[in-house]
Amino acid sequence: MTANEIRESYKKFFEQHGHTIVPSAPMVIKDDPTLMFTNAGMNQWKDIILGTREPEPRRRADTQKCLRVSGKHNDLEEVGHDTYHHTMFEMLGNWSFGDYFKEGAIDMAWEYLVSVLKLNPEDLYVTVFEGSPEENIPRDEEAAKYWAKHVPEDHIINGNKHDNFWEMGDTGPCGPCSEIHVDSRTPEQKAASGKTGRELVNQDDPQVIEIWNLVFMQFNRKADGSLEKLSMNVIDTGMGFERLVRMMQGKHSNYDTDVFQPIIKAEQDLTGLKYFTFEEETANPISKEQNEINIAMRVCADHLRAVAFSIADGQLPSNAKAGYVIRRILRRAVRYAYTFLGQKEGFIYKLVPTLVHEMGDAFPELKAQQQLITKVIKEEEDSFLRTLEKGISMIGDAMEKLKAEGKNQLDGIQAFRLFDTYGFPLDLTELICRENGFSVDEEQFNAEMQKQKDRARNAAAVENSDWTELMAGEQQFVGYDYTEYNCHILRYRKVTQKKNEFYELVLDHTPFYGEMGGQVGDCGVLVNEAETIEIIDTKRENNQSIHIVKQLPKDPTAEFMACVDTDKRDASAANHTATHLLDYALRQVLGDHVEQKGSYVSADTLRFDFSHFQKVTDEELRQVERIVNDMIRQDIHIDEHRNVPFEEAKQLGAIALFGEKYGDKVRVVRFGPSCEFCGGIHATSTGRIGFFKILTESSVAAGIRRIEAKTGKDCEEMLYQLEDTLKAVRAFFNNAKDLQGVIKKYIDEHDTMKKDIEQFKAQAVERTKDKLVEKAQVVNGVTLIKAVLPLDAQSAKDLVFKIREAVPSHLLCVIGTISADKPMLSIMMSDDMVKEQGLHAGQMIREAAKLIQGGGGGQPHFASAGGKNTDGLNAAIDKVVELAKL
Ligand code: ATP
Ligand code: MG
Repeated sequence: MTANEIRESYKKFFEQHGHTIVPSAPMVIKDDPTLMFTNAGMNQWKDIILGTREPEPRRRADTQKCLRVSGKHNDLEEVGHDTYHHTMFEMLGNWSFGDYFKEGAIDMAWEYLVSVLKLNPEDLYVTVFEGSPEENIPRDEEAAKYWAKHVPEDHIINGNKHDNFWEMGDTGPCGPCSEIHVDSRTPEQKAASGKTGRELVNQDDPQVIEIWNLVFMQFNRKADGSLEKLSMNVIDTGMGFERLVRMMQGKHSNYDTDVFQPIIKAEQDLTGLKYFTFEEETANPISKEQNEINIAMRVCADHLRAVAFSIADGQLPSNAKAGYVIRRILRRAVRYAYTFLGQKEGFIYKLVPTLVHEMGDAFPELKAQQQLITKVIKEEEDSFLRTLEKGISMIGDAMEKLKAEGKNQLDGIQAFRLFDTYGFPLDLTELICRENGFSVDEEQFNAEMQKQKDRARNAAAVENSDWTELMAGEQQFVGYDYTEYNCHILRYRKVTQKKNEFYELVLDHTPFYGEMGGQVGDCGVLVNEAETIEIIDTKRENNQSIHIVKQLPKDPTAEFMACVDTDKRDASAANHTATHLLDYALRQVLGDHVEQKGSYVSADTLRFDFSHFQKVTDEELRQVERIVNDMIRQDIHIDEHRNVPFEEAKQLGAIALFGEKYGDKVRVVRFGPSCEFCGGIHATSTGRIGFFKILTESSVAAGIRRIEAKTGKDCEEMLYQLEDTLKAVRAFFNNAKDLQGVIKKYIDEHDTMKKDIEQFKAQAVERTKDKLVEKAQVVNGVTLIKAVLPLDAQSAKDLVFKIREAVPSHLLCVIGTISADKPMLSIMMSDDMVKEQGLHAGQMIREAAKLIQGGGGGQPHFASAGGKNTDGLNAAIDKVVELAKL
């Protein structure tokens, strides 16, 4: 079976067993403060599991793009070195929200693997939770019983809390789990090892690996660590697709399957190097160098996928948060390609066409954004390769220095700095050092690393108390229609962050919009006759508005009126609507390749990022502004459709964003020809925007442009300022009518005058030189010229050079000049004075300049120094003459 067929068979099997097949959520998570990337299939169901979203349909299944490179699940360092962990992988999953539980999950998993896919049951082992006496949780006898229906006792293995008890976080849903492991050793390996598969489960044997984890959520962990029963039991399973494909295709490495082989083939073609599959390696043990090539090819193939999918999901490499994680993955690939595959120029981007060819059908976002993906990767590679070269030369310098000091170990602080600022990981620094007979102080490096981690942890530490439930029920958002609404507090909790304390409230009805989709959250108040509580911000979490307040009401159970600050909301709504019009106008002017890549709207800002491959010209920007302002003047009324099935919305012509998570039902917002999927708050009609003006257009990353603009009242203020500036400028020119003409005339006049002045100055220098040479004294055969003159620095320099020309031998010239109340001393000598008398102007001036409270230096024949004390000039000149010992 091909990978694509296996993916389809999984969906078909669970569909036949009553599951609704749902799409993968984006891999990059945008609105969850606790998680940057999807790392398991269950992430997108978090709000259902927490009870804040409708669980229907109760049976679901999908294949989910996952990324495990940060936080709780971080497999990055394994990837490439082993053959079964990836950064990005697909997780096949099936869920039951209060429907079937352990028995159903176990039966279906077994039926799928053994009856449908025909895996050999003798190679399968399962684990069950052994229990935890200190927590008073018994062994998961239930799961063991259902497994016993399918497998012999000696294929059921007890597992500890680490492997067999799943928790969502420090608090929240949790429960025991059962893993299915596969013994995929060849008969020869089995015979040679003398160990049973059972003995190798969970022992990091690359051929005895976990493929499927069935999680049985039945508890809720509270902040004090205790467990209570969950109101709805949940089944959550996850199976590694690439590992399953490997089993089905009879391979022993994920990289030998048709998921990776086409990419590896492209790598071989591009580098001229060979990759050895598991079979080839077994038949013919490979050298250390070949093993490094193998690892590097796996790393590049794997990381290519992770990076390309992230970019398609709208997450570009950058310097912060999720963007930084992606940048690090790509840099890891570049480093391996550079070091082990001899790729000194961009390489990963050349693999994009193969990836798109292989996966573009199952994941259309790859195909649609191929150009952007390629461009972004190439630019990142180019810039990192430059850094890499800089870092390598820095290590070279450091080693030179150490050699001179007779040392042979690079200190850990330097190694850490290379890592931290240049993205140079320790192993690369070590490799380069080792090749030159140096070592690295690893302990010190690790200590520095730990210090940084501690700093980051302290900065980010957030402590949440348990929710205090005041009323049962779910929140209803009424903010599309109201800005004031009667409400009660459903629950609240205290949050402590960096010693700051605040409370989060969930209301039963709320008009407050929680920050989402780039639009800021509302602020406002909760009021009743007794008190007024300020809501400083509203966030969105698990599908709910979370209201942030500094203090709790005295009576939290009272009824309140929730009132949104409408000035702020109207302004941010108008800005949001303006971004839709802008998006539309950009497509009109630049073309359909324009895709929104990010936006931020608040009451006073409007920022819009989009894909486009060159600078937007001034004329294009003006055209865009004209279209938007025209739509504003048409005062188009909002045409809003709530709860539209996703497919229907698409047929309305609504534009969806790649990498955005949409439910089954969506909201569509239309203003005339502009039609988008959008959950945000908008102006009731475009006229409310007032006016639209672009301020800047710039580049944020390869292929991504950013427009910042202002609307309405802000534009009005801007216009006033502009008018005031212009008035002030005009006043400088006697309120001339033709301001441009007058200014141009002034500039021309200024240029002519400047030229004239330079000429006059040159003439004056010439005359002064003549006079000085004429009046020069001769002391012991040396022409001595000294004077104090009012000249600027450039003229002083011209003067002494002219004098040298006029008196080519036996010359000592010392000139003091004063310009803008500052003294300057210049010494000029003919060459014979230097060669025959052994004088050095640079040294002489250092002595003399002290007398004008200054310093300077220069060459043997010419030197100058500036100072502070003009009164000392004559003494300084005498000093020079004295030093010359004529
Ligand atoms: P392992 O111990 O092998 O790292 P895990 O315990 O981290 O696995 P789970 O969190 O239970 O795995 O994830 C469910 C399934 O997803 C696993 O059984 C495995 O098949 C797959 N999986 C987990 N991590 C990876 C990865 N980095 N690359 C590919 N597949 C993975
Ligand atoms: Mg793992």
